[in-house]
Amino acid sequence: MSHEGIRIVSLEESRREQQQEQPLPPDAVTPAKVKIAITEGTGVEIVWKDGQRSHWSFPYLRDACPCATCHEEREKTGRKPGEPKPVPQQMFPLYTPPARPVKAEPIGRYAIKFKWADGHESGIYAFEFLRRLHGEML
Ligand SMILES: [Zn+2]
Repeated sequence: MSHEGIRIVSLEESRREQQQEQPLPPDAVTPAKVKIAITEGTGVEIVWKDGQRSHWSFPYLRDACPCATCHEEREKTGRKPGEPKPVPQQMFPLYTPPARPVKAEPIGRYAIKFKWADGHESGIYAFEFLRRLHGEML
């Protein structure tokens, strides 16, 4: 019996592959309502056309930044989008305020862009990306 051609992939890898293979229906990636609560600081809420509701806190979205730099940094350290960076053990830890945007603007009809309080603004959060991020949280 030959095992050639059989590929051993981790559960996580196969899950990731499946996610990429499955195209989402248009109603699942089209928002019916978007609420970005910058003043309240409660995060972003989207009601999708298919009736699903998603909510993310601002720190979660900051840690999920899809720009190339943040993506590479996550790949290197094995973090998932939205997973916070590990806090270094220090005797006198510096206080880091939770991430929040100072501005949010739509990019055409397909994405949202945030300008974060830390000055970072290169991440384009496509609605499809956000909807898949919702899947990660379930
Ligand atoms: Zn980024």
